[in-house]
Amino acid sequence: MRAVLIGFRGTGKTEVGRLLAHINDVPFFDTDRMIEESAEKTIYEIFAEQGEEEFRRKERRVIASLPEGDAVIATGGGAILDPGNVRKLREGSTVFLLQADEAAIERRIRDTRRPSLTRLPLRDEIHELLAVRRDAYLSAADFCIDTTIKNANEVSLEIHRVLSGGAVSWKRRERGMEVIRASGIGHEDIGEIEKVLMGEGTDTLTRVYAIMGYPCTHSKSPQLFNRLFSRYRVNAFYTRLQDPEIGTVVRVAGDIDLRGASVTIPFKQAIIPSLDHLDRDADAIGAVNTVVYCGGKSYGSNTDWLGIRGPLAEYRKARAVVLGAGGAAAAAVYALQDLEMEVTVLNRTPGRAEELSARFGCAHAPLSAFEALDPGVVVNATPVGMTPDHHSPLRPGQLKSGMVIFDLVYTPPETPLIRMARNAGARVIQGPEMFVRQAAAQFRRFTGIQVPPAEIKEMME
Ligand code: NAP
Repeated sequence: MRAVLIGFRGTGKTEVGRLLAHINDVPFFDTDRMIEESAEKTIYEIFAEQGEEEFRRKERRVIASLPEGDAVIATGGGAILDPGNVRKLREGSTVFLLQADEAAIERRIRDTRRPSLTRLPLRDEIHELLAVRRDAYLSAADFCIDTTIKNANEVSLEIHRVLSGGAVSWKRRERGMEVIRASGIGHEDIGEIEKVLMGEGTDTLTRVYAIMGYPCTHSKSPQLFNRLFSRYRVNAFYTRLQDPEIGTVVRVAGDIDLRGASVTIPFKQAIIPSLDHLDRDADAIGAVNTVVYCGGKSYGSNTDWLGIRGPLAEYRKARAVVLGAGGAAAAAVYALQDLEMEVTVLNRTPGRAEELSARFGCAHAPLSAFEALDPGVVVNATPVGMTPDHHSPLRPGQLKSGMVIFDLVYTPPETPLIRMARNAGARVIQGPEMFVRQAAAQFRRFTGIQVPPAEIKEMME
């Protein structure tokens, strides 16, 4: 057994870690203590004399030097802000996030001598840092334990129980599995998830992720994420959850203790009422494509817009046109506005373009206004050109060299619009670029591990 404890200071990592190591008769490593021993200074002195940057450098060195094998490891509160640390800590380990409410944290650390990171009063500092770090904590964990009203003994026993038999009963797993068997996904998919959840010698610590959609039998996400999990030695399995009813999908997610989900058509909006938290970007776009579940709570976010923003980052402040007014168009408008572009929405049904532009405070126009707008950047957010369709949403005469054409359609990668734009001498960005980048951002939310988009591209080939 190899368990890593992460979380804010005052959540009990050191005491719980020591007890847990004792119960399991394995070595205990406390990275803060290791830093102090090697520097022959207290953490307070390192911060005061050498600054936070030097502390983080020492922390990285200590984490990189942790020996492999059975152990309990307690980490400093900010360790998981570095994706390199997360990658190392996750290898072959089960990661537990210890949480506590702000008042409990304040009570526990009030009288200890620790460096202030913000110079704010203690309660404000706790609030501020928790807000900044929340996503990183949620991503890096396999299991989340609320320690607010528990003592270290109780928490260590709870972790011990999870390590011995997982977090949900066999009865609940079976209930979830029953729905999956009847969901219409392929026999091979059913066999694999059955083995992970219910098989003989099942590893109850394997965390399960899924694509949620209807239908989602053709999604390539399971193949991609399972490859990523095995490359980064994360004990996890990615499957498919499909049903016409979002309520059924959410219930099964609870029964099988789902750790994270990619959300696709038709649930990107429908899932929102079932979530406990919605991040700012997903709220503004009005759609969720990523959910993480931790400690009985669900957290929704959107990485689609990052997949559009990334390849266009060098065209800040351009004049842009978005074709379409659906979900992908909303993510596109949000991304382009984040790059301070002047955006106009053009759509087949003018009412929908008007609605979308009113939501984001941008312009809208009929499709016939394209030439007059003379855009520098064009994003196609309609399905025109998607297999088996062979059309292009624009005519050859409308495309010019100097334009940047981003076609979000990714099947086929080379659409009629892309071919036409190339012939006109325009710069092109193909749909898979968006998929790859949103997937990299999603894997980061799922695991805290940062993977270069190029690596994902190569894994999909
Ligand atoms: P959606 O919500 O159904 O919206 C589709 C939009 O396209 C609507 O505004 C619709 O216009 C317009 N449209 C549909 N057929 C059209 C046609 N024949 N001519 C002109 N306009 C047409 O779909 P979505 O979820 O936004 O997805 C749109 C496309 O984005 C998808 O087909 C997919 O290829 C792409 N996408 C790519 C990625 C990626 O990772 N690369 C991710 C998500 C989506 P009306 O309002 O007039 O109906």
